[in-house]
Amino acid sequence: MCTRSIKTWSTPVSAEESRLIPCILCGGEALRPYLACEGFAYRRCARCGLVQMNPQPLASEVARRYQEGHGAAYLAYELANEQAFLELQTLALGDAGFAALERDLFAKGQKTLLDVGCATGALLETLSRRGWETTGVEICTPAQVYAQRVRNLDVRALPLKENHFPCHSFAVVLASHLIEHLNDPRAFVREVHRILLPGGCFLVTTPNIGGFQARLFKNRWRSAIFDHLFLFSIKTLSRLLGDCGFEVVRVCTWGGLAAGSAPAGLKRLCDRGAKRFGFGDVMLIKARRCGGEML
Ligand SMILES: [Zn+2]
Repeated sequence: MCTRSIKTWSTPVSAEESRLIPCILCGGEALRPYLACEGFAYRRCARCGLVQMNPQPLASEVARRYQEGHGAAYLAYELANEQAFLELQTLALGDAGFAALERDLFAKGQKTLLDVGCATGALLETLSRRGWETTGVEICTPAQVYAQRVRNLDVRALPLKENHFPCHSFAVVLASHLIEHLNDPRAFVREVHRILLPGGCFLVTTPNIGGFQARLFKNRWRSAIFDHLFLFSIKTLSRLLGDCGFEVVRVCTWGGLAAGSAPAGLKRLCDRGAKRFGFGDVMLIKARRCGGEML
């Protein structure tokens, strides 16, 4: 039925230093080959099912990908797709009940929102016009400079943790297509927990390896790329969030078939089914920060 898959933008595969690591979700060391791609491979933890690039590139090498050389290409990619990405993000937030969340929080005077990996800041600009007090984090320097100078937004260039935001700084944290790029997603989720207000909301969007397209395309799946170190399912991401002090309150998935891969009618049908039954290509998990501090 579908024979082609267009991969997401990625840095070229390079010979970076990498090492085998235990599963970051359960500590398991039985990691079975799962997807063999050109120049890299994913393994699946036999115990918890987390799919991870393993051996894994060192954090210093990963940081360099975004800070050297490819920054201008990434900005060009983001600018070329800005409107389409903004529409997708807006639809996703709509499905996740963002309007009701906004009403509730604004009624309490809680308007602080952080977008981690905010790219050119298109979504932040929209939200700031709606009354949110916005902050962004974007480690790709050309994109960060663009968001700051062209859009006049408060966007920080350092990785999340290095900004040392005070505890309970934000009512909402967004992270769209970010968590799969990180060496240590657990440390990231814990930091989000620390900087959120008690009861605050974390909306995390990432490719869904449990989706229809991932199962169909396997190593040709558009999200099986060099830059994606972890490929989460609803189950593995929910477990990570639960481990770090969050309660999952809503899961949405969308995207049944890639654009252009099937006749429009079939694609529409498949998209509707994917959304309804949770096998869409991308997922958004809305999680509430439980009370109490993490150790
Ligand atoms: Zn595991």
